[in-house]
Amino acid sequence: RLYNEVIELKGNIRVFCRCRPLNQVEITNGSNYVVEFDSSQDNELQIISSDSSKKQFKFDHVFEPEDNQEAVFAQTKPIVASVLDGYNVCIFAYGQTGTGKTFTMEGSPENRGVNYRTLDELFRLSQERSGIMRYALFVSMMEVYNEKIRDLLIESSNQPPKKIKQTAEGTQEVPGLVETRVTGTEDVWDLLKSGSRARSVGSTSANELSSRSHCLLRVTVKGENLINGQKTRSHLWMVDLAGSERVGKIDVEGERLKESQFINKSLSALGDVISALASKTGHIPYRNSKLTHILQSSLGGDCKTLMFVQISPSATDLGETLCSLNFASRVR
Ligand code: ADP
Ligand code: MG
Repeated sequence: RLYNEVIELKGNIRVFCRCRPLNQVEITNGSNYVVEFDSSQDNELQIISSDSSKKQFKFDHVFEPEDNQEAVFAQTKPIVASVLDGYNVCIFAYGQTGTGKTFTMEGSPENRGVNYRTLDELFRLSQERSGIMRYALFVSMMEVYNEKIRDLLIESSNQPPKKIKQTAEGTQEVPGLVETRVTGTEDVWDLLKSGSRARSVGSTSANELSSRSHCLLRVTVKGENLINGQKTRSHLWMVDLAGSERVGKIDVEGERLKESQFINKSLSALGDVISALASKTGHIPYRNSKLTHILQSSLGGDCKTLMFVQISPSATDLGETLCSLNFASRVR
């Protein structure tokens, strides 16, 4: 397939940057725009600092505030399709809280995001290939909060934390995790919604907790070649990461400080793993966080990785925007 060849040539790690529009509060406050796009280039942007100096960043693709969910998925589609060819795939949304990670991954009924569109595309392609391949798709959802794994497809909020287990083949499994067979898009939206609602169980403010946990949607694809009987099993992960904003030690204490330390640790572990993969150094430090450990067999080798770096265009977020762009440059 042409798509996969193109990806192969460019390597297995791709980074897309998506900038959200100014929100109502920023417009009302007259916030300045600090992100500049080049209309002739779809892979660069410039950040204008407070002293008017400009810094350029390059990505595999840059999405401007006007780019809609269709435009984003058009670039994402070739990567998700490779899971049907037996490749493991990981898609991440990284960035400060409020920059559109959940908008990109989940979206809304009017503006469905990558998660739903991906499943839709997988159903469409498996139908298209039904003369040669038979596919079965399963969905699992889990949350990593304070280095503890919780199943999001179970109603109960006080379940014992799930463990990561190494299988005989050397891959990682989460024993007891619910896997729901999905056969069409009709039931998928509600399933994904119920999982994401479960993400905030037990917290006083839903939005607060969801920004401090990683939400992992895993699609397991089992394929059987109807001509030679060959079987494949692969995973596609779609991860809405915890907010990357730095929390100052003086601002918080207790529970909140512990949370932010767990987030910092797991996000830097993810950065370390992806940059080690990108630079092809020997040791890949998967075991430094639950997040990277659980994803171990889907990161590296011939697996495909896509990172969405989400940013705000507002001058008030300049510091965090530069941090996110620097993180992205490290993994590219
Ligand atoms: P995060 O998950 O990173 O905290 P959200 O996805 O919740 O951020 O986005 C914050 C707000 O901004 C939401 O109201 C969302 O609908 C809006 N938003 C984010 N990105 C876009 C976009 N590209 N276009 C329009 N609205 C957006
Ligand atoms: Mg969110």
